[in-house]
Amino acid sequence: MATDASLLSRDAGLLWHPYAALDAGAGYAVTEARGARLVLEDETGTLREVIDGMSSWWSSVHGYRNPALDAAARGQLEKFSHVMFGGLTHQPAIELAERLVALAPGDLRHVFLADSGSISVEVALKLALQYQEAKGRTTRHRFAALRGGYHGDTFATMGICDPQDGMHAAFTRRSSAELFLPKPPSARRTAPGHWEYLASELADWESTVRALVSTNSAQLAGIVCEPVLQGAGGMHIYPPAVLGILRELADEHDLPLIADEIATGFGRTGELFAVDHAGIVPDIMCLGKALTGGYLTLAALLCSSKIASALATGAGSAGSALLHGPTFMGNPLACAVACASLDLLAGAPGTALKDAPWRAQVAALESGLRAGLAPAAGLESVKDVRVLGGVGVVQLRAPVDVPAVTRAAVAHGVWVRPFRDLVYVMPPYISTPEELAVLGRGLLAAVEQVHG
Ligand SMILES: *Cc1c(COP(=O)(O)O)cnc(C)c1O
Repeated sequence: MATDASLLSRDAGLLWHPYAALDAGAGYAVTEARGARLVLEDETGTLREVIDGMSSWWSSVHGYRNPALDAAARGQLEKFSHVMFGGLTHQPAIELAERLVALAPGDLRHVFLADSGSISVEVALKLALQYQEAKGRTTRHRFAALRGGYHGDTFATMGICDPQDGMHAAFTRRSSAELFLPKPPSARRTAPGHWEYLASELADWESTVRALVSTNSAQLAGIVCEPVLQGAGGMHIYPPAVLGILRELADEHDLPLIADEIATGFGRTGELFAVDHAGIVPDIMCLGKALTGGYLTLAALLCSSKIASALATGAGSAGSALLHGPTFMGNPLACAVACASLDLLAGAPGTALKDAPWRAQVAALESGLRAGLAPAAGLESVKDVRVLGGVGVVQLRAPVDVPAVTRAAVAHGVWVRPFRDLVYVMPPYISTPEELAVLGRGLLAAVEQVHG
């Protein structure tokens, strides 16, 4: 449709945006994206290049228009973009699954490809329920989840998000069935492998959680957590020792431990997977967001043979089938790009993980963010500054004026999307030291200008 009206005016009232009123519209239209930069057009038609602090919500780790990812997408387009996965298979899905299994900790050997993060968590919950049913435990259908968590926007995943602080308080009446464990104490990683937290807080947390899980274990089907870093629920960093405790409880009560690594996976927190900070192996792991380097929607669930073989006995009412199968399951285009993204992260197949490129990239992000955000701690409005791997968080004493901070940040050449009392960044891994410096300065200037 040819029209002279600006993109922003055509958008308003037509399209919903995430967690927004229909008439809220968007602040900017993206006209180009390359590397760590976006070109934004405002309502006056003015174009402005900004550094993307958000990696399009944790996903675009290799930057926009990455030549290797572009080539992988083109290569697969010339074969086929999509075919159904029922009864059919293809090379991109098989290669991706083999490579994810090789990267994953422990014996997570079986893969379910889903079309988004929320759906992979839904499938994880189904898998845990079917596991319990296959074991003949018909009363076990609740999940234990951490307060402060976020696991997605569909109804079952809303049920395991924090019921009060989370984004789904409007729906709590529909999702009050789960068992909430207190939010773990906060922690800081001072150096690789070194964590600071209050041991007494962790001990209190542990005794409460042990009691809650023991009391309710006859009804529980599984334990769900975002390892070490709770993202959209509040950017909360907790001690890896918490995962060791959850692992023990899961073993004691035969509860599948589900690690939601959708935000944390692929190096973002400084280890390939956040569970690696604790050296534990979950029974089920969900991956998404950065899986395709931010190109296409795809998620993956990995599970251990213990879980898969319990289903395979066929003792549950569903027989041995895992009851899920989306139309775009295993989308070949997305799988091909995901394989190319793993090449960029992990190096060519056979490269030792400790030498993989992501490690140096994320270490550079961490030191750049520590240096760039440290001065924020001196601002009147700032309550806390924390950095873990490629994630930097500035927490204010009051809720952020989101439109004002966003506008001020764009004026300083950076794109951020704050929520609640949090202004945070997780830049693309390919960001240069100069881009990180601009990001830090712009974020600070925006916060100071709006909140003081
Ligand atoms: C983003 C996210 C999800 C949901 O993924 P979608 O692809 O948005 O459905 C689930 N869990 C965590 C931890 C996430 O960060």
